[in-house]
Amino acid sequence: MAIDIVNPYDIAVAQFDEAADRLGLSQAMRAILRKPKRELIVNFPVRMDNGDVEMYTGYRVQHNINRGPAKGGIRFSPEVSLDEVRALAMWMTWKCAVVGIPFGGAKGGVICDPHKLSRTELERLTRRYATEISVLMGPDSDIPAPDMNTNPQIMAWMMDTFSMHMGYSVPAVITGKPLAIGGSEGRLEATARGVQFVTREAMHDLGLRPEDCSVVVQGFGNVGSISARLLHEMGCRVVAVSDIQGGVYNPHGIDIHKALRHSKEHGSLRGLPDTEAITNAELLELPCDALVPAALENQLTAKNAPRVKARLIVEAANGPTTPDADHILNDRGIMVVPDILANAGGVTVSYFEWVQDLQRFFWAELEINNRLEQIMMRAYRATCAKAEEQETNLRIGAYLLAVTRVAEATEIRGVYP
Ligand code: NAD
Repeated sequence: MAIDIVNPYDIAVAQFDEAADRLGLSQAMRAILRKPKRELIVNFPVRMDNGDVEMYTGYRVQHNINRGPAKGGIRFSPEVSLDEVRALAMWMTWKCAVVGIPFGGAKGGVICDPHKLSRTELERLTRRYATEISVLMGPDSDIPAPDMNTNPQIMAWMMDTFSMHMGYSVPAVITGKPLAIGGSEGRLEATARGVQFVTREAMHDLGLRPEDCSVVVQGFGNVGSISARLLHEMGCRVVAVSDIQGGVYNPHGIDIHKALRHSKEHGSLRGLPDTEAITNAELLELPCDALVPAALENQLTAKNAPRVKARLIVEAANGPTTPDADHILNDRGIMVVPDILANAGGVTVSYFEWVQDLQRFFWAELEINNRLEQIMMRAYRATCAKAEEQETNLRIGAYLLAVTRVAEATEIRGVYP
């Protein structure tokens, strides 16, 4: 068996190459789309609470901006690397194209462990990073958003920092902000709501009823915890959830509201009453109808894919499945709703937030959720139709749609000068 690729950028390029082959893209177009357009590396000092100064490294990568301004989240994690940010930027390009919103792809990150920083240290790190990447940021050029370990407060500090430099408030420079400063209704739940919509449709297509389905969710942050809640509200039995410290399991179903309270009070799911402790590795192989990886990359690999028991996998996280695992799951007839479609609800409502900020005209939550549902359903149906037409799986179907749209925009704009 070939060695499982685990470098996220190599995975992103391999996925693109497969779509490019099927589409018969020209060598020139392939070369343009394989590489990020811009990569910024910043090394910057941050004063710690004890007076020491520590150096941090951060990145901002723009993959392709032919369909609109660069858009993509900011990740704070010790695991951040330039290749990870490149991969995430490329996936953002395809994601925006799959759902048909006028953005290009970008991503940013800082190598740090935010759990080891005080609030004031986190604020200084955020403001200095925002200053360093402000050469790229702007409401018409590059609009960041939250990702792993970043949240509305961090978006608020970034928006404030950028606005201080400009001398006036620029809410449209960042999305995922608190409502008080131009955030959008529904943004906090948006990624998970999108996950809920595509899970509902995929269950329907598999002939399953949500109320008969058991669900396992990996990751209990913004995307995982809200997905678990919304799937529970849709009637599914959520049998296991996890965070970085491990998982909890109850085959009869977990009370998600209790899990949310427990996680908030104790900082983790460990010790949740009426559950059995399991590892993240065990969680992925539990018997269930639907598995929702909502944590990070490379969770489903050639090693564990043969033992996955779910009938449906909905990739709420970015890049949770390696290409080898993908082939195994495909051969086993397990339906995978790919990340660039499944988690596109977040960037879709980020788009609504940006539009609202630019127009200074805000919409009601119902309107936002309805528009999100329309966009997610349209993208899901178009992906299924493409996959059926090309006799392939949903990942390739989504890539064929996305790469065609980005290649068309790139072709029409032409090569400058
Ligand atoms: P988050 O920081 O809010 O939550 C991450 C969760 O994953 C936490 O519960 C954490 O404990 C857990 N986790 C971290 N490392 C883990 C490990 N090694 N094993 C198991 N669990 C681990 O982040 P988030 O915003 O919910 O993002 C989760 C995923 O969803 C990421 O892949 C992100 O790129 C993707 N995503 C997020 C958004 C968004 O709007 N926030 C949008 C699209 C995609």
